This record gives sequence, C-alpha cells and structure tokens, in this order.
Amino acid sequence: MAGIYLHIPFCKQACHYCNFHFSTSLRYKDAMLNAIKQELELRKEYLNGAKVETVYFGGGTPSLLSAQEILSIFDLIQLHYPLAKDLEVTLEANPDDLTKEYLAELKTTPVNRLSIGLQSFVEEDLKFMNRAHNAQEAKQCLVNAQEAGFHNITIDLIYGTPTLSHKSWLKNLQTIFDLGIPHISCYALTVEPKTALAHFVKTGKVQDVEEEDTAQQFELLLEQMAENGYEQYEISNFCKPSFYAKHNSSYWKSAHYVGIGPSAHSFNGHSRQWNIANNGLYLKALKNNELNFELEELSETEQHNEYIMTSLRTKWGANVEHIANRWGVKVALQFKKNVEQYCQNGFMELKEEEYVLTTKGKLIADNIMSELFL
Ligand code: SF4
Repeated sequence: MAGIYLHIPFCKQACHYCNFHFSTSLRYKDAMLNAIKQELELRKEYLNGAKVETVYFGGGTPSLLSAQEILSIFDLIQLHYPLAKDLEVTLEANPDDLTKEYLAELKTTPVNRLSIGLQSFVEEDLKFMNRAHNAQEAKQCLVNAQEAGFHNITIDLIYGTPTLSHKSWLKNLQTIFDLGIPHISCYALTVEPKTALAHFVKTGKVQDVEEEDTAQQFELLLEQMAENGYEQYEISNFCKPSFYAKHNSSYWKSAHYVGIGPSAHSFNGHSRQWNIANNGLYLKALKNNELNFELEELSETEQHNEYIMTSLRTKWGANVEHIANRWGVKVALQFKKNVEQYCQNGFMELKEEEYVLTTKGKLIADNIMSELFL
C-alpha cells in the first residue's frame, strides 16, 4: 500500500491559527504546477513500484485549482505510478470554492472524495479564525457537494475556540448529523508559535484557549459521535461504517508515501524527508532539475516510538507480537509490563490481540504514549 501527497501551497487568505506552508500570492501558481509535475516525474522511483492506493491533494487550498489543472497533474501520475483499481483521490476544498459550477467541473476529474475545511457553522467563530467563508457558505457547500454526486465527504471541525459555546458545538455536530456526512475530523484549537493567533494571545487581543472547555467539548464530541452511529477509529477521526479514510489510515499504518510540492513530507519505511517550505527556493531548485529537501534516517528507537504513537491513536491498537518480531522479545516484555498498569486503571484494554486506549485513555493519550516510548 502506498500513497501520493501533493501540496498546493496557495490560499486566498491566512487563517489566524494556521501554521501550514502557503502563500496568499498566486503569482507563481503556473510555475508551481509545472514544478510539481516535474517533481512527480523526478521521484517516480521513490515508491519502488508499489501500487498507489491513495492520491491526496492537500495544502494550502487545492480547490484553487481548476479541473483542467487537476487533470493535467493526474495524467502525469497515471503515466509514472502504478495505480490501484479502487484508487481514493481526495481533494481538500474550502467551502467558498465549492460552487455548483466548480463541483460539476470536479466531477469530470478522478477526484472521488472531498475533504472540506469547514471548521464551524458559527459566524463569530469563523470570523475569529479568519476563514474565507461564512456560515451560510459552510452549510450550502455540503448541499451543493451532495447534489453534485459527491457522497464520500469528510469535513474538518475545530473546537475549543473562545467563540464556541458548548451549545454551539452541539449545534455544529447536529448539523453534520442532519446532513448525513459520513466522515468527520475534529481538532482542538491549538495556539501554534509564529501564527497571528499566537500574537493576539500574547498581546491580550484574544483570550487563550481554556483547557477545561476544550476537554469538555472533546467529551461531548465522543458522546455525540457514539450516539449517532459514528465510529472513532482514530483519536480525531470518526466515520460511518465503511467510510474509513484510506489516505489517513495509511499514515497510521506506516504505509509508504511520496510527498510532492514545497514542505511535503515523504516516508519510505526507514527514512523521512521533507521538501523546503519556501515556494521561491523550491522553484529555484527544480529549475536546475534538483530537489531542495532534508532527510532523516530513522533509528530503531525512533521507528519503535513512531509505531507506538501511530498505532495507539487508532482503534487497531498496538500488537505485542509485532513488537517482539520487530524490536525483540525484551522490548515487547517491557511494553507489556508498562501497559498493564494502564489496563488496571482503565486507561487501556486488550482487544483480541491488540492493546488500545479506552475513552478515559484517549483524554490523556499523549502522556500515555510518551511513557511507552523507548
Ligand atoms: S485555508 Fe487551510 S492552509 Fe490555508 S490558511 Fe486556512 S487553514 Fe491554513
């Protein structure tokens, strides 16, 4: 199983909380698309001929691409990479781009899954985040997408903002349930360094995130999702039966992927590499048919810790036998011993052959994982 991630590094405006790599100037969009195509060709051997099961247009804002531009990138992917029959092709999209006309165009491309950066249906909340869309567009884009024939839809929601009451949070979730959206990713607002939000918090312009409110909204989320028939298959991801995101799941199952475009990360089982997060320098390198990236070989310890972190985030959990085969019996025994105390205190449980976090454990997941690291 392998995947291709394409980073489209442009946005209409900067959301206050965002620390992804993007530019709000579209001046070099054409040059960037040509460079991305060039990188796709240059790195066609990276996946070692493995069958590609997921293609993910992320960013930035990939819905700034026309259907023609998506098709031209896809042609190259088809030419250079072996593709699985039931390929999942996801496009991240912002609500204000999802007009009926654009969706009709998208239908002519291989895109078969939309990941919509919706974040909230509350006007005040969207303004606080400096999103480019309003509450009305948030709702309308979902109706438009379904009417256009897109049924494999995931949306992102953010909770824990100072502008989101518990009542509004429940209302946001209810709107999603009423519309029958099959997959939802929910993230707590975090104040990342060097963002506009970090500056506003520092200067007292906005209040900092209240950890207790965030924890309460996470608990409400778990309750509501379970009541409405969604399975929590990863800490932040919920879906209706058979709507697991193949793309996200491949990250958590340590599948190999090639990341194309500025700031994109790649993983081939033993090393990670990431492209320069600068549009100008990325373009400059490709002008000379070179790539500007950093590479890190993962030590056995790092690979073990990564396995603990990714497996415990999911419902598939961590398998002792796998740990023994991969890192030795001693490491597996130590893992089992450490896990026992969490099982006794109700933070973890053994499900068939795998150890998983319980609901109580998910609330302190980061602490548990770091305690289990080598
Ligand atoms: S649209 Fe997405 S990538 Fe762009 S600034 Fe907002 S959160 Fe960041």
